[in-house]
Amino acid sequence: MGWSERQRRMLQEMGIRLWAPVSSPSGAPADAATPAAMPAMPVAPPASSAGAPGTALLPTPVDTDAAAPAVAPVGAAPADARAQAIAAMPWTELREAVAACTACELCRSRRQTVFGVGHPRAHWMIVGEAPGEQEDLSGEPFVGAAGHLLDNMLRALQLTRDDAPPQRQVYIANTLKCRPPRNRNPEAQELACCEPFLVRQIELIRPRLILAMGRFAVQALLRSSEPIGKLRGRVHRYQGVPLVVTYHPAYLLRNLADKSRAWDDLCLAARTAEAASAGAG
Ligand code: SF4
Repeated sequence: MGWSERQRRMLQEMGIRLWAPVSSPSGAPADAATPAAMPAMPVAPPASSAGAPGTALLPTPVDTDAAAPAVAPVGAAPADARAQAIAAMPWTELREAVAACTACELCRSRRQTVFGVGHPRAHWMIVGEAPGEQEDLSGEPFVGAAGHLLDNMLRALQLTRDDAPPQRQVYIANTLKCRPPRNRNPEAQELACCEPFLVRQIELIRPRLILAMGRFAVQALLRSSEPIGKLRGRVHRYQGVPLVVTYHPAYLLRNLADKSRAWDDLCLAARTAEAASAGAG
């Protein structure tokens, strides 16, 4: 993928490193900003515990994306009648079920649920963590400064959350549909209660790529307690869908040094989505 001058300027304004051509050992220039010029992507084996939806092992919350220590997964998502009912819901029913959900304590403090936005058959699905204050107010995921950064990152990849064909319009959803009070970390039981909704969204969309942003999204989807720094840089699988891990935009706003790593992740995601689309015909 080539970058226009305008995109390059925008990325630089975002503080995202643009790769200057560097000399390969053979002396030939290699532009790492061009996904086609990146080395062949390593594909991780499916997470050993990434079993059927509803058997999620959810992590114990910790403080930061970069410094997340390894934690033992605890708890199991209920494989009960509720999860089975959700697994059979069409879009309209699913949306109504989320709006009316009282399955965990977060229903008491939310202003509204945050279901998700985007194309129902999007090729790219972005999965974040939990709604914050502004998402709780607006009912839309990734708004405010973090949402603005995400939009800019998507725009650099010629993607958008606004109306567009499914190749360009992403779908954005959070792991949790309700805001934890005072933006505290989600609890394992809350993540387990909410997981069937996300699982069903993914099943309905059938994306060609999932971009998991932030520790809770990553750990819930991959059933892994590894920190993001150890999971990024390769392609995982979730129910057969390629999944790329990266930092949450809110984290990037506080940790500028990791923006260049996030951009590396987006380039990997772009290459992966391109390959998946080519394979899909
Ligand atoms: Fe229901 Fe999820 Fe909200 Fe909990 S966080 S009340 S499970 S929608």
